[in-house]
Amino acid sequence: MAGLAVGSAGVARRCEAQLRPPASVHYLGGNSWAVRIARRLLVFDYVEGPGATARVPGEPRGLARGSIGPAELDSLDVFVFVTHAHADHLDSIIFGWQGRARSIRYFFGWRAGADPRHHYLVGPRAEAEVDRVRIRTINSHQDGIPEVAYLVQADGWTIYHNGDYRGEVREDFAYLRGFAGRVDLAFLVSGWPREEHPLFLLARQFVQVLRPARVFLIDRLGQERRTETFARFLSSHGAVGEYLHGNLPGDSFVVSAEGMGEFRRR
Ligand SMILES: [Zn+2]
Repeated sequence: MAGLAVGSAGVARRCEAQLRPPASVHYLGGNSWAVRIARRLLVFDYVEGPGATARVPGEPRGLARGSIGPAELDSLDVFVFVTHAHADHLDSIIFGWQGRARSIRYFFGWRAGADPRHHYLVGPRAEAEVDRVRIRTINSHQDGIPEVAYLVQADGWTIYHNGDYRGEVREDFAYLRGFAGRVDLAFLVSGWPREEHPLFLLARQFVQVLRPARVFLIDRLGQERRTETFARFLSSHGAVGEYLHGNLPGDSFVVSAEGMGEFRRR
């Protein structure tokens, strides 16, 4: 009986995977990523920073240039996710998109305000479902501020953004696995290639439990290449996976329903 249940879940999942529209993943610098699936745009920890994301005067913002421009949003249903309040994860510029998008929803991993239109996923382990997008959070609490990681399921895709989450990874990842089975696109923070490093332990646990098809490793803007060392270390220490990273804000990856990926350099 158990075997039958697992088998039909697997078949259902394969059918769903074949029907889903392609996803394009946009690197927007540091922790900031966007995933576009058909008319939806899922934005994680958007920060418009200095350095490579700086716009040339007069050049409009846009995903292809590693930023989000209001003009691009008018045909999109936008979901904005913020993991926590640190300045490298939250930028008030996101509120300027209101009224520019076809529709826009904001999700915060803590009680960030009192706007009835916003979703405050106050933990532990909050969840929400909006317009057929299912969202679940897990929590941690460093430096005195609450923070979450997001698991988002939309249009047949399962996406995870870690933010700076460093909680009870064994329990929390097992909890997420109960909903996700496996993850399609994961955004994890890169760390040092050492077996006792907490970010290594987190990433290895995540890969072993949630078996992501693709992992996008996050490093500080300008330090992106360090992720290659971390990826090799993971692969040789119990967490074989397909590891990717952005080099320049504006880099993008198109992942089709069959799982084929195409990398587009900015
Ligand atoms: Zn932080």
